[in-house]
Formats: sequence, structure tokens, C-alpha cells
Amino acid sequence: AETMSEADLGERLSLDSPFQEFHRLTHTFNAMMDRFQKSCESQRRFVDYAAHEMQTPLTVLQGNLEVTLQKARSTEEYREALIGNLEQVEKLIALARSLLTLTKVTGDRPPLHLAPVELEPLLQELIIELKLLADDRRISLALEVVPVPTISADAQWLKQALINLLDNSLKYTPPGGSVTVRLRRSDGSLEIAVRDTGPGIEAEHVPFLFDRFYRADKARARESGGTGLGLAIVKGIVEAHGGTVAVDTQPGKGSEFTIRLPLGRAPEGHPSN
Ligand code: ADP
Repeated sequence: AETMSEADLGERLSLDSPFQEFHRLTHTFNAMMDRFQKSCESQRRFVDYAAHEMQTPLTVLQGNLEVTLQKARSTEEYREALIGNLEQVEKLIALARSLLTLTKVTGDRPPLHLAPVELEPLLQELIIELKLLADDRRISLALEVVPVPTISADAQWLKQALINLLDNSLKYTPPGGSVTVRLRRSDGSLEIAVRDTGPGIEAEHVPFLFDRFYRADKARARESGGTGLGLAIVKGIVEAHGGTVAVDTQPGKGSEFTIRLPLGRAPEGHPSN
């Protein structure tokens, strides 16, 4: 027999007023509680992950200090131990910095200072800053731009998002590879794409890449010193600007991360083309 929900019944009998109103309220309340519970659970998981990420360097640090203190060492041994400890402290600082950035950009009111930004000089500056790192890794770094209008953005935050993408490309691409940054205009938005000839990412990982602490290749990611928050920060920054970020990747071929920023928000857009 056909079952009829109470809401259907209410509608069929055209019982508006209290009965239907009550149902609507119950439904809204349940949906709200559901969202609230999900958000609590995700918050709990986040704290759990963050604590785990801190625990590893702290445990290594503790072990190092204990071993170092067990017996008298030569100056050289002390020096080595201190260098090892410094590395762990640097990891902790990077983690704390990333956590702070992430909570800022994904908060209710991200602290964006919007102003007209010219992307071409911003990208040129970035390429110059990262050239040494790229040379050091024997990766060619190129910029391809077309004239685009000024956009309304927070230059500092935008730069941070791009640094994270470039940092990943330079980190995961083997020596001899190349990284290309492309700036172009597509209908209603500007696109900045960072493409590399790195290892690419398996399809099963792609839906989770922008999640906090998600790493596609755990061993490689940890070895390269990442916090697992880089892409979550990129997503937070881009979405705070009303934009989107997407990835197109093929294992063995490379990856392309594309940031799309809406043009409409420009306060005083002066199209240059
Ligand atoms: P991490 O600090 O581990 O790099 P991210 O959030 O920046 O964290 O990136 C998440 C994961 O996505 C990385 O651990 C890595 O597995 C994968 N990834 C990101 N960028 C690239 C890239 N350009 N090439 C290959 N894998 C990448």
C-alpha cells in the first residue's frame, strides 16, 4: 500500500496553519541539528588531527633531548642533536602558522583587505621570489600572461594561496621537470593555473585533496615537510574572495591547479584589454 507521510497527508487534507506549520518547524529544526552535529564532528576531527600532527615532532624532540642528556657528548654530537631538534621546532612553527592562517581564512569573517590588484606584476614578483628554489631543484619555472583587468582582492592572501600551489608543484615535481603559471581571462572570471610535470595524483584522492590534513602520498608528503594544510588554506583564501579552486591531474603526467576569481567584484575595474 502506498504510504503517505504526515506532511503529504497535511497537504492532501489542506490542513494548513498549526499542523503544517509545526511540521515545517520540526523539519527545519532537525535539519539545523543535523548540520550542527556534523560541524561539531568535523571540528572534533580537526582538533584530533592537529594534536596528532603536533605529537610527532614533539615526541621526536623529547627523544632527542633525552638521548642527548644521557651521557656527555662531544661538541660535534651536541651540534648534530641541536640541528635535529631545530628541525622539529621548525615543523611545529610551520604547523602553528598554518593552523592560524586556516582558522583566519575559513572563519565567519575572513580578514580580507580588498583593493584593486594587478595580477601580472604580482605573478612576476612571485616567480622572481621562487626562481632560486626552482633552480636549486632543477625545475624550469615559467609565466604566461595575457592582459587582464584589475581585480578586487587581498594581494597578501592571494599571494599566499599562489605560494602554496607553487610550493607544492616545486616540491612534488622531480628535477628536470617544469612548472608553468598561466594567467588568462575566461567569461566573468580570471584564471590562474599552476601546471607541473610532477607525479600527478590518483583519482581516488582527488575529492579529498582540499580537505584539512589530507595527503595523497603520505610518505612523500611527510618527507617533503608539508603540513597537509596547504591546499585547505588555498581553498579558504580563494572562497573568501568568492572564487573557486579546482585540480586537473593525471598520474604520471602532472597536475594543474586552477584558481578562478570573479571579475564582478572589482570596485573600480579598469579593463586593460
Ligand atoms: P602538503 O603539506 O602535504 O603538501 P597540501 O594540502 O599542500 O599538503 O597537499 C595535499 C596533498 O596533495 C599532498 O600531500 C600531496 O599528496 C598532494 N599534492 C598537492 N599538490 C601536488 C602536486 N602539485 N603534485 C602532486 N601531488 C600534490
